[in-house]
Amino acid sequence: MSDTTATVKYRKDYAPTDFRIDQVHLDFFLEDEYALVTAELNFSRRTDSNATKLFLDGEDLELQEIYIDGMALSAEQYLLSDEGLQLLDVAESFVLKTVVKIQPQLNTSLSGLYKSGSMFCTQCESLGFRRITYYLDRPDVMTTFKVSLSADKEKFPVLLSNGNLMDSGDTADGRHYSEWHDPHPKPSYLFALVAGDLGVLRDTFTTCSGKLVSLYVYSEHENADKLAYAMQSLIESMKWDEEVYGFEYDLEIYNIVAVGDFNMGAMENKSLNVFNTAYVLSSPETATDSDYEGIEGVIGHEYFHNYTGNRITCRDWFQLTLKEGLTVFRDQQFSADMGDAALKRIDDVNVLRSVQFREDMGPMAHPIRPDSYVAMDNFYTSTVYNKGAEVIRMMHTLVGADGFRSGSDLYFERYDGQAVSCDDFRLSIADANNRDFSQFELWYSQAGTPKISLSSSYDADAQRFVLSCEQSCQPTPGQDEKLPFHIPLLTALFDKDGNELAGERVLELCEQRQDFVFENITTEPVVSALRKFSAPVTLDFEQSDSDLQVLMSYDSDTFNRWEAGQRFATRAIFDLMTSLAEGKSIAPSPKFLDSMVEIANDKQLSPGMKSYLLCLPGHAALSGQLDVIDPELLQSARKVLRTAVADRLQDKFSELYDAMSSDEAYEPSQEQIGRRRLRNVCLSYLSVASTGNGVEMCATQFADASNMTDSVSALACLANLDVPQRQTALSDFFEKWQDEDLVVDKWLSVQASSSASDTFARVVALKEHPAFDIRNPNKVRSLIRTFAANPVHFHSADGEGYRFVADCVLELDKLNPQIAARIASAFAQWHRYEPSRSLQMKQQLQRISEQDKLSPDTSEIVKLSLQA
Ligand SMILES: [Zn+2]
Repeated sequence: MSDTTATVKYRKDYAPTDFRIDQVHLDFFLEDEYALVTAELNFSRRTDSNATKLFLDGEDLELQEIYIDGMALSAEQYLLSDEGLQLLDVAESFVLKTVVKIQPQLNTSLSGLYKSGSMFCTQCESLGFRRITYYLDRPDVMTTFKVSLSADKEKFPVLLSNGNLMDSGDTADGRHYSEWHDPHPKPSYLFALVAGDLGVLRDTFTTCSGKLVSLYVYSEHENADKLAYAMQSLIESMKWDEEVYGFEYDLEIYNIVAVGDFNMGAMENKSLNVFNTAYVLSSPETATDSDYEGIEGVIGHEYFHNYTGNRITCRDWFQLTLKEGLTVFRDQQFSADMGDAALKRIDDVNVLRSVQFREDMGPMAHPIRPDSYVAMDNFYTSTVYNKGAEVIRMMHTLVGADGFRSGSDLYFERYDGQAVSCDDFRLSIADANNRDFSQFELWYSQAGTPKISLSSSYDADAQRFVLSCEQSCQPTPGQDEKLPFHIPLLTALFDKDGNELAGERVLELCEQRQDFVFENITTEPVVSALRKFSAPVTLDFEQSDSDLQVLMSYDSDTFNRWEAGQRFATRAIFDLMTSLAEGKSIAPSPKFLDSMVEIANDKQLSPGMKSYLLCLPGHAALSGQLDVIDPELLQSARKVLRTAVADRLQDKFSELYDAMSSDEAYEPSQEQIGRRRLRNVCLSYLSVASTGNGVEMCATQFADASNMTDSVSALACLANLDVPQRQTALSDFFEKWQDEDLVVDKWLSVQASSSASDTFARVVALKEHPAFDIRNPNKVRSLIRTFAANPVHFHSADGEGYRFVADCVLELDKLNPQIAARIASAFAQWHRYEPSRSLQMKQQLQRISEQDKLSPDTSEIVKLSLQA
């Protein structure tokens, strides 16, 4: 890493480049210990510029040769620095040729060209391309790429890059080469290269206009039997995007390569997606139901980027949500269409609330289109992605599905092949639908989670119901005052028996305070507000337990049915917390327990839906609603309620457990996933019931499981308990799966997330275990990041959890700053904890900040956190 001083970049400073790049030719000569990169860049000056100097980004490059129009440059004609190369006197148009040497095998940041195992691969978003060659490394410089690469044929039989394959063949000395041409102009962050000895699964897809596309999914040979579901998901994605958006694939070939060492989930490089193995490899024995869902969603996401991201890209990195918010929204729609839409919506909202809402409450709170950054890689956040998707969803709700499609068509008519801004997308949707979305722009510029307070009045004589809405938004760093947002609120009214009094309406809340009138309402209604979670807001609405029960039992919107249950459970848990804090012991809300009995007995509910309704809200979602977090108290209260549900429903859970058992062959079908999920929810309750044989049931399921979902669910239950069966199961699991990297990751995270008393000691020991590798991001996420999210042990009162994680951050910062910064953000919420923990977390942040040569990535997170 070069020791660059952290400088802040601002969105308002955007200016186009003085020079365009008209075409690029890259040549890679790959050897085990180094790579030679020859770049020929055709530059031409823009007509509105008269610049004669040109700065090109470059990092950790060893310049070997440099020519302009074939003439070698002398040392006075350019300047080299840690950040790049400055050409001091250039003409209106010229060809720059450079040869640089790089050392991919020493690149532990996994940005640029690096080695994963014995394979060469790349990750260029956001600023990785400058670690490959000197370039205008920014998304608004789009051009066509020709790439040739050569390597030893025996060690690297597969040589891939973007676009269509033009030529390949053998050269002298046992080497071979391939040549690629991508006719679609693209920015450097979408460049990719892979060279390795890989297994492959082949298939084809015929597009809607009849073009044949060759499809390839690659992995290390030993995993080549785990590629079928990824291929199937790719084909489904291609079909879906044609049907729903009219987007037809635009090249002859599509490659996906699974890589073991990868900082992100996956990368949408044009026609050569590079994937974390976790989102490609699957078999019933090694992957869980949620792994299968993750593969389908991420394969879809990267494929959908081909239009939303690659064909139309971002003008600058501040516009990241232009491609990410939109593409997350599209992958959510795709997964909803492939599986159970209502349950998918619940999953998406759970992520938003437990991750993004927390961001909004912390020192890193930023709008989905940030105004400044130090390290761009720190802004690949849940706010940009998940809240960004919610902002797109609100537009979809406001104009409807057909209106949204017209807007998307107009967006491509206007901007295909260009690098544009979030405003260009918003205005395309507005213009296609004759809507004014100028107030809606505030969702892009204001940070924070708006709160909507609802109150109501009913006039029985006039049969008129009035819903009064008031919106507010807490200050966030740099934004003390907020203007009112434009918020779509999907709302319906029911009577006490669950009959609909007013069908679903989109209430458009634009003022700070606004009344909505419902006529011909024959009885005082129960309000179902914010249906389908139609806006990323919190709702402040006092509804009685009996109103919540009506919604839980009858709401025609499945999301709100679940939501009513979660609100009911949250109320029960917070009541228990109050009692525990006062040293009282009281029984949990009998009404709530009754409602759980009703759900468990409901014969109309699908097993999948029932499993969601039976789950209590998670620790992250609950702590997000507290002003001051005492993790121990919260955990105790949640545990009391969980045990009470388990005890009350013990027989029913056993009965359901048996009823959901099956000896069908494994399929990741919606129906089977729902049954397994319900069965495992029952098992998890039974494992904490005060009496009964839950522990033996876990041990039996663990021993007999024929698929990873059942195996790891049972293991996770046992890992939480201080029982002898735990150690046996953990040892057996490792013994069986030690050669399967992704399964070892599960083994690590099950232990790191455990609530058992010896978790901390175990995690410290696991960090030294041969199966752990601090250079592999999946291993770090499984052990360290999972532990940093452990509500009990990360926050242990003596501070040992905090010290351990801070040590890990310091160690990681030297190897992989992106990952180190992610882990460091575990401390960002320090100011929301009770005083003793708060102080200890802050001390660890200070200790990290005092470290010499801290990377800009980690330093930005730590400094912002300390300002809270
Ligand atoms: Zn993406």
